[in-house]
Amino acid sequence: MTQTNTDILPINFYNTLTHSVEPFCTVEPGKVFMYNCGPTVYDYAHIGNFRAFIFGDILRRFLELAGYDVTQVMNITDVGHMTDDDIADGGGEDKMEAAAKRLKESKKSGVADIDNPDDPYAVAEFFTDAFLEDAKKLSVAIAEEHDTNMPHATAFVENSMIPMIQTLIDNDHAYVADDGAVYFSVESFPEYGKLSGNTLDHIRGGAGGRVEDTHQASKRHPGDFLLWKPDTTHIMKWDSPWGVGYPGWHIECSAMARSVLKRDVIDIHTGGEDNIFPHHECEIAQSCCSTGQAHFAKFWMHTRFLLVEGTKMSKSKGNFYTIRDLIDQGIDPVVIRYELFKAHYRSNMNFTMQGLKDSASAVQKIRNAAAKFADQSGNQITQVDNNHPIIKRFLECLADDLNVSGALAVVFEFIKNPDEDTSTPSEALAVIEKIDHVLCVLKQKHGYKDVPMSVHVVNESEALCKQLDEARANKDYATADKVRDQLNEMGYDVKTTKEGTIATKRLA
Ligand code: AMP
Ligand code: ZN
Repeated sequence: MTQTNTDILPINFYNTLTHSVEPFCTVEPGKVFMYNCGPTVYDYAHIGNFRAFIFGDILRRFLELAGYDVTQVMNITDVGHMTDDDIADGGGEDKMEAAAKRLKESKKSGVADIDNPDDPYAVAEFFTDAFLEDAKKLSVAIAEEHDTNMPHATAFVENSMIPMIQTLIDNDHAYVADDGAVYFSVESFPEYGKLSGNTLDHIRGGAGGRVEDTHQASKRHPGDFLLWKPDTTHIMKWDSPWGVGYPGWHIECSAMARSVLKRDVIDIHTGGEDNIFPHHECEIAQSCCSTGQAHFAKFWMHTRFLLVEGTKMSKSKGNFYTIRDLIDQGIDPVVIRYELFKAHYRSNMNFTMQGLKDSASAVQKIRNAAAKFADQSGNQITQVDNNHPIIKRFLECLADDLNVSGALAVVFEFIKNPDEDTSTPSEALAVIEKIDHVLCVLKQKHGYKDVPMSVHVVNESEALCKQLDEARANKDYATADKVRDQLNEMGYDVKTTKEGTIATKRLA
């Protein structure tokens, strides 16, 4: 996948930092160093998380196809991500420890095969393995580089996070509070707020403010955020110059990005839109203040949230899907991948069952075309480069702030009339295979064969819930019971709520 720099096409990406679309250029010519915020491994990753991860994957694969040498790093957060971290001060409980308690209490959790569910290390290992398994099924390339490019936070505390915190204290950007916690001083970094547009005046504590008031007494400014949490009771704990405890979530990514990418300034940093504040705002502050550089990442790219059937995903609404929920329902991972990348990353994506069906038929069309080219050419493939008109148009769309739908339109136009732009089936096969470096929909598992899926299972549960509600409204309790039994037999837990019946697929 190497090309000379002169072949590299002009690329424009939206940069959250400058709030504008900018020409993409790298610190080192021809090379991209990219960091993607990865999963917090306290539960199975859901399809929203995977929207963010597949976005990172498409970005990497596009840049590779365009000729860049890409080094991608995605972390595994296995300590320090607090339940209240959205409000910037490390309040609440460590998600790993909370999960360990939850799993210990609830043997019904579906993860009974964790040997020690009350041990956060065992929980982290279990969900890391589950994440990697799901990610590989979805052709997320970084999952194949787990040993080198997927740092686990717990492995970087001593050699990376503690030294970075010490540097921040030495440079007067951080302080040890009376309660032993170490905080970053937001007033010490005038750029704080640039990424998210939050000024220090707006970041006030208490009700209606952006930050929680819990540790107010020991903080100099309500917006100061946690770098080190003193805690002798947590199972995951380390010695530090500030006592036994564990690191804050934000310092983890600053430290791991620097350690693994081996750079003070990187080219791209990604995450979901909820990461912009506080997580990425805090990362910028920590990284710039410990390295002395004006930038941490040149480009900050964020995916908008995924919604399900138009609403926020939530377990109580029964519209919360993990990848394995969908695979269990017979949906091919390749269809899930396609569904998750087909919408523009800067618009909310509405995950629907109809959308999955459309994705399945789109994938099938691409596979049918490839199968036809393979048959006609006797599996002969010629060489094509990025100057081939189809590849060029495909790349140009992606170079326009990752316009995936435009790029897919190029693919469908091409497979409809392959003779217009290619002169032989082996050339057409080469084109579609090259494009598949980005899409990854052709060969996995099934070769060019049918894409199996059974979306109806989900629709069936929706229809039955409606039937149950109608029966109950008509006081037809015999039918209501029958439908409820039917749903149970199909593997659903059925709950009656004010909004109506909710059926949630039981985990295997
Ligand atoms: P977490 O495991 O909570 O640390 O999240 C992992 C990644 O998933 C982060 O980049 C989040 O911003 C992203 N994310 C979480 N929920 C959604 C969603 N509904 N849609 C898109 N991205 C999400
Ligand atoms: Zn992060």
